[in-house]
Amino acid sequence: MKQAMGTVKHRKQIILFMAAVLIPSLTLILFTRQIVRQEKELSAKRTADDRERRAREIGQVLLLRLERMQLEEGQKEETLLTRPDEYRPGRPEIVMLGLVEEGRLSLPWERPPAATAPQGGAMRNARIAESIRAGERAEFQRKDPGLAAEMFRQALALGGNEREYVRLLLARVLVKSGKTSEAFKHYEALLALSPLQKDEDGIPLFLYSADRLSGLPGYFDEVVARLSTDLKEKRWMSPQESFLIDSILSRVTTQTAATDEVKRTAAGLRDILRPFSAKAERLVALQKGFSGYAFRLDSAGSASPAEPVWEVEPKGEWLLGLGNLRPGRQSFLVVDIGELNAALRRDQDFRQAYPEEIRLTAADRQPGESLGPKLRGLNLAFSSPPASTADEGFSSPRPFYTLTMVAVVMFASLGGTLLWRDVQRELGLAEIRAQFASSVSHELKTPLTAIRMFAETIRMGRIREEETKTEYLDTIINESERLSRLLNNVLDVSKIEQGKKIYRRHPQALAPIVQTAVRTMEYPLRQKGFVLRVEIEEGLPDVDVDADALEQALLNLIGNAIKYSGEAREITLKLSRRDAWAVIGVVDRGVGVPLRDRQRIFEKFYRVPSRENEQIPGTGLGLSLVAHFVQAHGGRVEVEATPGGGSTFSLYLPLEEGA
Ligand code: ADP
Repeated sequence: MKQAMGTVKHRKQIILFMAAVLIPSLTLILFTRQIVRQEKELSAKRTADDRERRAREIGQVLLLRLERMQLEEGQKEETLLTRPDEYRPGRPEIVMLGLVEEGRLSLPWERPPAATAPQGGAMRNARIAESIRAGERAEFQRKDPGLAAEMFRQALALGGNEREYVRLLLARVLVKSGKTSEAFKHYEALLALSPLQKDEDGIPLFLYSADRLSGLPGYFDEVVARLSTDLKEKRWMSPQESFLIDSILSRVTTQTAATDEVKRTAAGLRDILRPFSAKAERLVALQKGFSGYAFRLDSAGSASPAEPVWEVEPKGEWLLGLGNLRPGRQSFLVVDIGELNAALRRDQDFRQAYPEEIRLTAADRQPGESLGPKLRGLNLAFSSPPASTADEGFSSPRPFYTLTMVAVVMFASLGGTLLWRDVQRELGLAEIRAQFASSVSHELKTPLTAIRMFAETIRMGRIREEETKTEYLDTIINESERLSRLLNNVLDVSKIEQGKKIYRRHPQALAPIVQTAVRTMEYPLRQKGFVLRVEIEEGLPDVDVDADALEQALLNLIGNAIKYSGEAREITLKLSRRDAWAVIGVVDRGVGVPLRDRQRIFEKFYRVPSRENEQIPGTGLGLSLVAHFVQAHGGRVEVEATPGGGSTFSLYLPLEEGA
């Protein structure tokens, strides 16, 4: 029965704990996790949207910028048409401007279309041309360098545009005919020519002379110095041209007759030359694959799309775009993406509008946001989160939610614990009350049965001896006294609970009260064979007490001593003085009180949970009333173990000051 009640209580507690703490907390945790996840998703989406928007905006800005570059650079059309070598890009990010005519791209070092006819001047002057042809015949067919020299001299004397070219031919045949000193005089003069004077292959004439002289010990310094001035001009040069320069320089570095200084200079110039030639080669490759670029195929058939479209070249470093100059002629701009990034970073307005770290990259090199269909293959890469989302405070919802969650779980746990304790106490009390009801009815029943039985026996008149009759009547009186003690206890507890218990105190001697209590208990003591010793100290001063209440307390203590004496039959009652206290001790030799229960036995309804105690009737109220009594009188009650078994309950009541 008890066990069944225990499991019911246990189950109730578990249900309570789950309802009050576990379920709300779990729900909250799940809910918060859900919110955090949604918030994160939302924030990621917001970031993505924001980036997309920014990329579109930046794409527009960039298109305008490129268009402006295209326009500004396009103004150099005239230069490109007439003196392409003199073209210089207007900004560091521009690699090159080329002209596109009838779908063909021409590069700046190439001869302008109008001047492509080889030896155009010579054509105009038939006599010069004739002399050159005669010279070449003499040189190569007849193998007569002397005659050839004669022919070339004639051509030279005629003047014209081709003079320097003829001079080169003359110097060549002079070498062949052994007139080296005269030949080198011509070569020396040719070395000083402008690089813009080129042959039909687009190679400057001075390079042929440099090539010749570079093998001759007396000329190393001069040749290297000439090439150095040339390279410093940073003029456009074709890959063939740079290849020729490189081979001249490398020849000088291998000459044993050359000084170390010249060799070092030559090697340094080769280093300077390398990026030039690499760039030239890339531009030539671009020219070759020009028709393959998507922007050219964009508007069916027409070489230029209606709107300018830009495209990243396969190496991912250059951005290419066409601009319309006039019908049939377009400009072709090559922009370096790395330099463009640097230019954007330098731009104050742009930096202010887009303060976050952004970079233009080729789409196939680095992931990022597309900049729109007009900037093909170009991406915008963000290396920091967009400023706007960070400003709005959405970037880190986690700590906030975690804190809230922890706080709520803490409060729920606290509330749950309090509730748990309350309910635990309630459940305990309910159990105690149930026990109390059964023990009170049991305690009432025993004396009532005895009273009734003895009274009926007397009434039937069967008892003849006066002595037996007196004994029966004594029992009836004793049992009624026990009943009234019990009822007094119950009534007092209820008064105390309602705060209505009043003690009527006045100073009086304690000995008479002790004596009255002893007298009241005389009969049950005697009946159960107890020996009661009473030790009262002489000359004790009066104490301010409620006599009835004290008597009731003593009756409870003596009653307990009888109940919990076990086999022992000895009780001592002592009244004495200890310092400023009057002490009444009730000593028995019974079962004693375990140490852990010594505090709790003074609680209402508490009974020591032992098997022997279960057999002894009781309500658990007596000692709680004793404790209340002494506290109300400014005293205390103590319980000690008596050596050899049993217990001593001592009431300490304060004496009057100075008494
Ligand atoms: P009741 O005696 O009706 O159970 P009390 O409040 O008088 O209630 O006592 C509380 C408990 O203290 C008792 O149940 C008993 O276990 C223990 N107790 C009281 N007096 C003694 C005593 N003299 N010796 C041993 N145990 C005692």
